Amino acid sequence: MKALLVYPEYPETFWSLRHALKFVSKKAAFPPLGLLTVASMLPSSWDLKLVDMNVDPLSEKDLQSVDYVLISAMDIQRESVLEVLELCRRNGTKTIAGGPLFTTSYGDFDDIDHLIIGEAEATLKTFLDDLGNGKANHMYSPEGFPDLSRTPIPAWDLIDMRKYSSMNVQYSRGCPFDCEFCDIVLLNGRVPRTKTTSQLLLEMDTLYEKGWRGGVFIVDDNFIGSKSKLKQDTLPAICRWMEDREYPFSLNTEVSIDLSDDEELMKLMAEANFSTVFVGIETTSEDSLAECGKFQNRNRDMLDSVKKIQKSGMQVQGGFIVGFDSDLPSVFEDLIGFIQESGIVTAMVGLLTAPTGTRLFKRLKSENRIVSDFSGNNTGSLTNFVPKMGFGNLVEGYHKILNSIYSDRSYYKRVKTFLKSYRPVLSRRVRPASENLKAFFRSIWVLGIKERGRSYYWKLLLWTLLRRPRLFPLSVELAIYGFHFRKALPDT
Ligand code: SF4
Repeated sequence: MKALLVYPEYPETFWSLRHALKFVSKKAAFPPLGLLTVASMLPSSWDLKLVDMNVDPLSEKDLQSVDYVLISAMDIQRESVLEVLELCRRNGTKTIAGGPLFTTSYGDFDDIDHLIIGEAEATLKTFLDDLGNGKANHMYSPEGFPDLSRTPIPAWDLIDMRKYSSMNVQYSRGCPFDCEFCDIVLLNGRVPRTKTTSQLLLEMDTLYEKGWRGGVFIVDDNFIGSKSKLKQDTLPAICRWMEDREYPFSLNTEVSIDLSDDEELMKLMAEANFSTVFVGIETTSEDSLAECGKFQNRNRDMLDSVKKIQKSGMQVQGGFIVGFDSDLPSVFEDLIGFIQESGIVTAMVGLLTAPTGTRLFKRLKSENRIVSDFSGNNTGSLTNFVPKMGFGNLVEGYHKILNSIYSDRSYYKRVKTFLKSYRPVLSRRVRPASENLKAFFRSIWVLGIKERGRSYYWKLLLWTLLRRPRLFPLSVELAIYGFHFRKALPDT
């Protein structure tokens, strides 16, 4: 059996980091971890090739010599998925598809030969058995959520690591919370399931032995879903692993804000070389937090929570949402003020959208307010429902936030606010020096000479050299990120 694994292209978004990647000559931020993991579950007799369309083009020739094309995709990749399917149709190539897009929207993909719904660990084996017996069905749906302890190590040999700026691993799936707009609970459940500690370390070993040094993103829905296991077992083991190998990876992940309530957990994460955490802050409005069921964010001093995490040695990236029914007209100014004061440099602000099948989607549908399909991109200027404050007011306020926080003046000011209070474990920065130098020289040309706002760039570098010289590489990195964010802003 010859199979081509295809990861469709995602459009330019806030998270694609496309404009920043050019500074380090990389094609994409992360490899397609799900597809690489599925590749390891396929029979060893299969002949596999992988095309990640974000780093290499897919040609018709690729399709002509294979028995099956396997596609994995998220909602944001829908447009590219349709192009791949059209290419397969033209060439008469059979298709197998799985991943979040097909799990929540399988009804839109009747023409795919075989749909693997949910997590591959739960359904792929039955499909492969049926395929081997010549009687494979159109669709395979799982019963419940699978145990992750048997999830294999991703087939890293199918990609060229040098084309990516970071590698990724997964430790857990699922989140104990149940925010109304989030499809994680739908896809992965509310009871966090983890790999064993030795399994995780083996995955890290594999990356290390393949020569990877630099960033590793732990792609969990909420890394701190099982706090006691992390504190008693997994994090101490990661700390030892890192120390034994002189800290080859800089880790980042996604967590809920209650991380800031647990000093021991923050300390262990910083010691394990977590440099950055993404936190869903969403809004400063108590009413909107109550409306979306984000109870872990309620009744707390959010600014204080962010500062605690920064002081423990981790950078905080923040997700923010506008468009809740309870949002007042002041929400836009409130968020601008909060983001500036918090020193959250990477602030992903999006419009509320309703992913298919979520509690929010169901509520809005019952109120006849859903107007289009979920696109998977909440940082464009579109949403898929009728907002209470009116679409025009919402988009106008949204653009006001973006234009304010990503103006040269505000952005560079925020970088300084962050650098003033950030206390990292400096001896453990792991990005290769050659990459830092390359990025620095390119930034001089692009940000210091070519682009507008260059005086802010030079002032930041000078300030960093004088006040926080050991944070100079980070300062350059954040200046480069700012360039990407300004370029990736939706048209206003
Ligand atoms: S805390 Fe995050 S991952 Fe968990 S349900 Fe809420 S938005 Fe989703």
